[in-house]
Amino acid sequence: MSGTDNSEALFARAKAVVPGGVNSPVRAFGAVGGTPRFMAAGQGPYITDVDGNRYVDLVCSWGPMILGHRHPSVVSAVSGALDHGFSYGTATPGEVELAEEIVVRMAPVEKVRLVSSGTEATMSAVRLARGFTGRSKVVKFAGCYHGHVDALLASAGSGVVTFGLPDTPGVTGASAADTIVLPYNSVEAVREAFAAFEIACVITEACPANMGVVPPAPGFNAFLKEICASNGALLIVDEVLTGFRVSPAGWYGLDPVDADLMTFGKVMGGGLPAAAFGGRADVMAHLAPEGPVYQAGTLSGNPLACAAGLATLRALDAGAYAKVDAAAAAVSAAASEALSAAGVPHRLQSAGNLFSIFFTDAPVSNFAEAQTQNTAAYRAFFHSMLDSGVYLPPSAYEAWFLSASHDQEVLERIAQALPAAAKAASTQV
Ligand SMILES: *Cc1c(COP(=O)(O)O)cnc(C)c1O
Repeated sequence: MSGTDNSEALFARAKAVVPGGVNSPVRAFGAVGGTPRFMAAGQGPYITDVDGNRYVDLVCSWGPMILGHRHPSVVSAVSGALDHGFSYGTATPGEVELAEEIVVRMAPVEKVRLVSSGTEATMSAVRLARGFTGRSKVVKFAGCYHGHVDALLASAGSGVVTFGLPDTPGVTGASAADTIVLPYNSVEAVREAFAAFEIACVITEACPANMGVVPPAPGFNAFLKEICASNGALLIVDEVLTGFRVSPAGWYGLDPVDADLMTFGKVMGGGLPAAAFGGRADVMAHLAPEGPVYQAGTLSGNPLACAAGLATLRALDAGAYAKVDAAAAAVSAAASEALSAAGVPHRLQSAGNLFSIFFTDAPVSNFAEAQTQNTAAYRAFFHSMLDSGVYLPPSAYEAWFLSASHDQEVLERIAQALPAAAKAASTQV
């Protein structure tokens, strides 16, 4: 390690002009303490900070960098796009190609609209579901994160849980009043909600990964589809995190439940801002300019973002997925082994190539159970790994992200760092 002087200086400057010094809360290291690292460069599975420290990256921009940093075909696609122009505020060919790529992979998606962030995608999908059904109530699950949409911030995962902000000031009672928050994986709670209310839509993460990884119980997503269909409600499956990551067709490829609407982001932008929502053609037909539900964006379908997203999706062949899967299996097994050897209670939860480690020994099937974990143990584990040059998510409530560029050399570096980190965690149990 070459120290953290430059990151510290930048953090001090940032705090003077940016709230908390960061543009997205988890980046501030609030949950783990210490100086957040300011990154200067990335290459393949590595990121390098402004002090010249190089880390194995297990965040991968929270998912988008599934090919690793600066993958040659993405670099050349974006450089090529740069030669033409940045943005026109008109339709462009890349948008058509990216929409076609999504529709080909995701069977329930007949029509798709491009936006710039996952938050916009879920916000628009909920608006469309309300406009289509003429109803107001939205069911969401505690611990599921759908971006920072007002109505969906109730009991959300990700940064909201990391910072223990169950109800966010600024979200009015009125905008949260139509949100019904239920415990995840509870068939009974969903039945009761449908018995009590007329519901516009249920929104769920395809496989929740923002409270740590909490897979749906077998049949849970299918149950949601069925109860929505028999009550005239729409099912919105949020694949912003899982889409194009856990398989070419995302979680849908592993658990094919036909959602009415789906949302995408992260991988589909290849590291630039691109996201989407789509689904049944008759529902999407309600969207402006075809229908009355308004939705728009100055930079929607941005040519550079479409180029990065298209190049990423096209490079994700079977071989690339096999590499991500193998790296995830190796890292999760090695981490769990090291923690067991050090006597640290933990629970590895996997869903395809997604996984997270809860620092608790009980199985986690919902948000309340996720919150039983020992975050002090994670903090010690995180900092030991960081000192050894491995950059983990700076929160115990996040999945670990691998890429197709995490090769044998990288896996060995991680394996070497694990025993000391497990030992550090063991001092906190
Ligand atoms: C990241 C994420 C979002 C929000 O996407 P942003 O691009 O950060 O707005 C929404 N839903 C899920 C499941 C996510 O993981």
